[in-house]
Amino acid sequence: MEPCRTQAIVIDVKDYGESDKIVTFYSLLRGRMCGIAKGAKRSLKRFVNKLELFTLLEIHFTDSRASSLVRIDQAEPLAHFPALRASYERYTAAALLCELVLHWTRENDADPRLFDLLRWGLGNLEDGRRPPIWGVIIFQIKMFTLLGFQPDLSGCATCGRLAPELTPYRFRLARGGLLCSPCAKVARPDDRQGLLISLSTAQLLKKSQELETAKLARFRFSPREVQESAVFLQAYGNHILQREIQAWEQLTRPEHYRTQATIPRKSPERAHGKP
Ligand SMILES: [Zn+2]
Repeated sequence: MEPCRTQAIVIDVKDYGESDKIVTFYSLLRGRMCGIAKGAKRSLKRFVNKLELFTLLEIHFTDSRASSLVRIDQAEPLAHFPALRASYERYTAAALLCELVLHWTRENDADPRLFDLLRWGLGNLEDGRRPPIWGVIIFQIKMFTLLGFQPDLSGCATCGRLAPELTPYRFRLARGGLLCSPCAKVARPDDRQGLLISLSTAQLLKKSQELETAKLARFRFSPREVQESAVFLQAYGNHILQREIQAWEQLTRPEHYRTQATIPRKSPERAHGKP
């Protein structure tokens, strides 16, 4: 088999036997891929401090005839993201990004846009200028769009409107859309259930879907919008995936939201992303 090389981000790593490691990457060339690093725990020169969670690497690998695991021959670090290992909140947020990519992608199904988004997401958390939960919210809303699971936040699924006088809105997971208050009153009782979502949260998430990540830096989420967005994205993703994403549990504990109350919010205009 011919040796190959690609840029790849470590999204999961496990010890295997006494000296090997099994590493899952999200790579530019093949999307999610899994490889074995023989002697990784002994070979200081080839692999030490390289095959760690979140690390961006240039890997050299060889396909195997007998297994879907590739053999990792060499790994050169391109970015370590050391700050992600120095803060519990940032580590947990970065672990959530990796866990999402692990479960939302298939092996050998490359998407360079998702690779770029993951690299941006880790770099944004490393940068630390925004609260980690902000990076998680933006990452996930963008990931849903790239993967074709964009939630429809454009208006009530029944009347099509999005307006202050129609609040409160609910998002119905089973139908994948919003329901305004007047339409809920005439809906069947079992069709009225859903996650409460304020108008400002729906508008912020909708804007986040539409704009490039570089233009989202000026967005400010209030503590309430952070909490609603996180609860909504967790529930929406888990509903579609039909499984729990473990890292959400650490990130959405109540004490974390109290931390978010310190998010700077300079003016109502800036809160909605207007220059
Ligand atoms: Zn309606």
